[in-house]
Parts: sequence; C-alpha cells; structure tokens
Amino acid sequence: MRNYETFEYDVLVVGAGGAGLRAAIGAIEAGCKVGVVSKSLLGKAHTVMAEGGAACALANVDPEDGWKVHFRDTMRGGKFLNNWRTVEIFAKEAPERILELERYGAVFDRTPQGLISQRAFGGHKYRRLAHVGDRTGLELIRTLQDKAVALGFESHMETTLTRLLTSGDRIVGAIGYRRSDGGLCLFKAKAVVLASGGWGRMYKFTSNSWESTGDGVMMAFEAGAELRDMEMVQFHPTGMIWPPGMRGILVTEGVRGEGGILKNGNGERFMFSHVPDFYRAETAETPEEALRWVDDKKNNRRPPELLPRDVVARAIYKEVKEGRGSEHGGVYLDVSHKGADYIKKKLPSMYDQFLHLGDVDITRQPMEVYPTIHYAMGGVTSEPETCATTLQGLFAAGEVACGLHGANRLGGNSLTDLLVFGKRAGDAAGAFAKSSSFYEPDTHQIEEEIETLFAPFGRKDGENPFTLHAELQETMQTGAMIARTEESLTTTLNEIKQVQERAKNISVSGDEKFNPSWHAARDVLFMLTSSEILVRSALERKESRGGHWRTDYPNEDPFWAKHNVCAKKEGENIKLYATPVPEPPAEYQEILKD
Ligand SMILES: Cc1cc2nc3c(=O)[nH]c(=O)nc-3n(C[C@H](O)[C@H](O)[C@H](O)COP(=O)(O)OP(=O)(O)OC[C@H]3O[C@@H](n4cnc5c(N)ncnc54)[C@H](O)[C@@H]3O)c2cc1C
Repeated sequence: MRNYETFEYDVLVVGAGGAGLRAAIGAIEAGCKVGVVSKSLLGKAHTVMAEGGAACALANVDPEDGWKVHFRDTMRGGKFLNNWRTVEIFAKEAPERILELERYGAVFDRTPQGLISQRAFGGHKYRRLAHVGDRTGLELIRTLQDKAVALGFESHMETTLTRLLTSGDRIVGAIGYRRSDGGLCLFKAKAVVLASGGWGRMYKFTSNSWESTGDGVMMAFEAGAELRDMEMVQFHPTGMIWPPGMRGILVTEGVRGEGGILKNGNGERFMFSHVPDFYRAETAETPEEALRWVDDKKNNRRPPELLPRDVVARAIYKEVKEGRGSEHGGVYLDVSHKGADYIKKKLPSMYDQFLHLGDVDITRQPMEVYPTIHYAMGGVTSEPETCATTLQGLFAAGEVACGLHGANRLGGNSLTDLLVFGKRAGDAAGAFAKSSSFYEPDTHQIEEEIETLFAPFGRKDGENPFTLHAELQETMQTGAMIARTEESLTTTLNEIKQVQERAKNISVSGDEKFNPSWHAARDVLFMLTSSEILVRSALERKESRGGHWRTDYPNEDPFWAKHNVCAKKEGENIKLYATPVPEPPAEYQEILKD
C-alpha cells in the first residue's frame, strides 16, 4: 500500500468557505484542535463570489421587519418543503450573526444614519440584505478568515478529500490527496464538519466555481448518510448569456433589487404577465406602480422582477421558448436608468464584469441574461439544533446541508445560513469532540480508496475524464434543466448510466504532480453519482414545486406538499424514499397564513 501522512484533529472541517470558517471558529473557541481542508487556496472558496448580500431582519431600513416576517418569507419561498425549526433558528439568529461579523471587522455599506444598509431581494417582503456593494462574499470570507487565523488552526490548502472513513457506524476521519504533488493525507478526527459547498458543475452552464463538484455530499452518501431534496436545484434567473465563453456567469439579483427591469426581445416588460396567483396581492400591476416601490418602497407593491427566483426563471424560459427572446437567446436586463454614478457605487462588480468580459457598458446598455444553475437546496440531512447528520460524528453546514431552503432558496439566505449554521455545527462538533476519543479508521476502506484514486494511472487508452464530464454536462443541461419531463429525465438517466459504465475505464497519463486530468478522474465519479440521485429524485417527485418544474405535472400535488424525497446508499444501490415534512406548530401556522 502507498504511504500516507497522518494528521490528528479534534475537529476536522472539510471546506474553507463561509460555513467551514465559521464552524472552525466555533470549534476552536470550544477548545479544540482544528484542521481545515480545502480544495482551493484559503480565501478562494466559492463563497468569495457571493455578490448581493446576506439576509437578516435587522430592520435598519424597514422598521416593520422582524424575524417572523423573515421566517414566513423563507417558508413561502421554499414552498413549505423547508424544515420549519431550521428556518425558525435561522430567522431568529441571523441578525446576531451579522452583528457578530461586524464585530469581527466586516465593513458593511451604511445607511445615512450610520446603520448597516439593507437592500431589496426577490421574495423578501422588506429590504433585508446586509451588503458590501456587490462584493459581500469577499468581505465575509476576509473577515472570517482573519478571525479564524487569529484564533489558530491548521490549514491544508489545495488538498482534496475523497472519502470519509468510518469505524462501525461513526465517522472517524477522511482521506485525500494534495493537489500539488499527489501526496496522500489521512486525517483522524473525533468529529468532522462537512462544509464542502454545492454541485453545479454537473451542468454545462453554471455560476458555480470549479470546486463545486459535490465531492462532500457524495462522500457523506457513500459513508451511509441520508440525503434529502436532491432534485431541488436552483436555476438563477439571470446568468450571462453572451459572449459564449461567459455563459452562466452570475448577474446578481442585486441588479433587480436596485431597480433593474426585465424586457423581452419585443421590448415588453414581460414579468407583469407571469405573476402567479399566490403572489398577486403583493405584486405591482403596472410599471407606474412598480416605480413607486423603487422610489419609495414603503406601502407599495413590489415590482414583478422581484418575485422569487423560481418564478422569474420560469418566466424567462417561457419568453424565450415562445419566440420572444433577445438577440442571443435570452432576455434583456436594464438598470441604465439608475445613472452611471449610482451603478458604479452599488454594482461595481457587475459594471466591471460586463465591460471587461462582454464589452457592454451597463450604465448605458442592457445586459442579456438567461437562467443558470446556481444553488443546491438539497443535500445532507442535518438536524436543526446541532447540524448533526444521520451519521455519528458527522455534522453538515452551508450549501452541502439540507433543511433551510425547501424547494427554492431566497437570495441572500445562503450567506446568513453559513454564519448561523456554521457556528452551530462548529459549536456542536467541538462539544462532541470534547466527550469523544480517536478511533482507528477501517484499513480496508483506506486501501479501497487508494485503489480507486490510482486506478486510472494503471489503464491504457481508456476514457478521458474531461470528455465524460462534458457528456454528463450536456445530458444534464438537456434533460434535467429548468423544465423537466418524465421523458427528458429518463433519457438523461439512461445517458448517465452509459457514462458511468465508461467511467470504469477512465485512464490518465503523466504522474501525480499537478495533474488536472487525474483530479478530474475522481471528481467525475462523484458527479455521476450525484447526477443519478438528482435525476432519480426528480422522476420521483411527480409535481411542480419551486426549483423543480415538471411540465408534464405542472401543478403542486398534495402528497408531495408534505413529503421530502430522501436518498440513502443500500449495498451498492441508491434507495429512494419519501419522508414527511415536519409540521410547524399551531402558532407558526398562523404566521404562515398571514
Ligand atoms: C456568483 C455567486 C453569487 C452569489 N451571491 C450570493 C449572495 O449574494 N447571497 C447569498 O446568500 N448567496 C449567494 N450565493 C450563494 C453562496 O455564495 C453559496 O451558497 C455559499 O457561498 C456556499 O458556501 P459554503 O461555505 O457552503 O461552501 P463554499 O463556499 O462553496 O466552500 C466549499 C469549500 O469546500 C471545499 N471543498 C469542496 N470539496 C472538497 C473536497 N473534496 N476536499 C476538500 N475540500 C473541499 C472547497 O475548496 C471550499 O473551500 C452566490 C453564489 C454564486 C455562485
């Protein structure tokens, strides 16, 4: 067997995004020795790309706001598939976590009175997103990183973990490789916090960073953890569509929050014709009424562009499908009426992004946009209070975890999720580690993973991992995108199966030093399994809800309104089953009725 270096930590954190860093702070403060492993460099996790802001009912701009309204908006946005207790904790603790971040040193945009400024976002009744221009994720990561580094932890950057290790039914560590030289690293831990982010890279056009291949969710699945709502992925309404090389890159919802409007190829402000009955009472009916909200948000109904993401994404899809698309097959998003100074102050990254990548000056011209895969609402089932998963010793927080967002995440709810549940996961893992000991990982599992990792070097003239990845992306983009049917999903499932067969014969050349095709060989195995689970869960849910739009079952179904689709490994098979969504207590039913 190959040699490996061994490291021991009370708490091992997988991921250095917002959730991982906040968890590390919690575990260090609990007195634990903490190791943080990340695929990329510290400071470069996907969170750094977050733009628009972090939602919390501070009520700095709209004094009517409060945690109950945030709770209601999040449950409604998630089409009630959320775990109500997770949402309750989230809405109550969000303001404190943002203020704590400020105490750690984050510098938010301010109101004229000097309070943290808050901007409007889709599905939020009040202006609620604390922000730093359109670079909020950067400030969040910078601040958490400074704090965690000051407290002290060991960082393993550019290290990819590929398997969680168990002893009996508990998680006792993980194994992986250093990307620079292929050196194997074995981490023994009393507790593990999974904070490895999402999995958009299985689709062709995505806003996600290269790291988002879903390794973490698949490592948990392979180790026996329960997954939930895997069919629920979010198609953000506004990704770049032109130039072709930039397709999928995000155009923040902050553009619409700052008054940006959507028009089709005929110049019509089409969102007025796509307002679902559910949201009609709170949505403006004319451009004049929408303008009153932009100018003076109080007591006015919101522009239809600020409906939740699932609604806006479907509307754009329909406009294009029915032949009213823009020049390059999307729609137009225009914020130029706000003036150059305002745009450069409030949306500096968007201004730079379009000017430098697309040769479009958004202070004078509209952007062209189309839905892009953006976020995974589903993931590892995690318990609201402690983020404990169904496996002893394994905690999950951030995008990899499931429970908060239901069928559709509201913009801005992720960054605060990272803080609220990153802290809870870190605190709980720290407490767990304090009353636990190290266990020896099963050597058979270590040998098996080393065999899987290095097998592609032993094969000659086999399949190219990049080709298989591209084929997976193509079929996911075609059959499991925003509009799904039994037929499209079944075709995609069959194609995934074929690629899985070919993946048994992946070969790579060269050696283990800085070898991207070797890295891709392992990543693609994870993505093939997660795609299969996603598609099979989507076939199971025969209704339309939030991010999951079945055009052959266009309505919501009373059974599925009350059930989550779960997945678990059983032998070598994927077992799917439905579990009841936890019912909110009577007092919360009242809030939701409002
Ligand atoms: C362009 C863009 C803009 C966004 N804007 C907003 C916004 O304004 N507001 C909002 O609320 N949300 C926003 N989001 C969503 C939000 O940024 C993400 O959901 C969130 O940052 C995820 O954080 P995380 O800590 O869970 O994971 P990530 O930040 O994705 O971090 C994952 C970490 O896990 C590591 N990792 C992954 N796999 C492995 C492995 N196998 N081994 C070791 N380490 C591993 C990675 O290297 C990384 O360090 C945006 C997303 C995008 C793409």
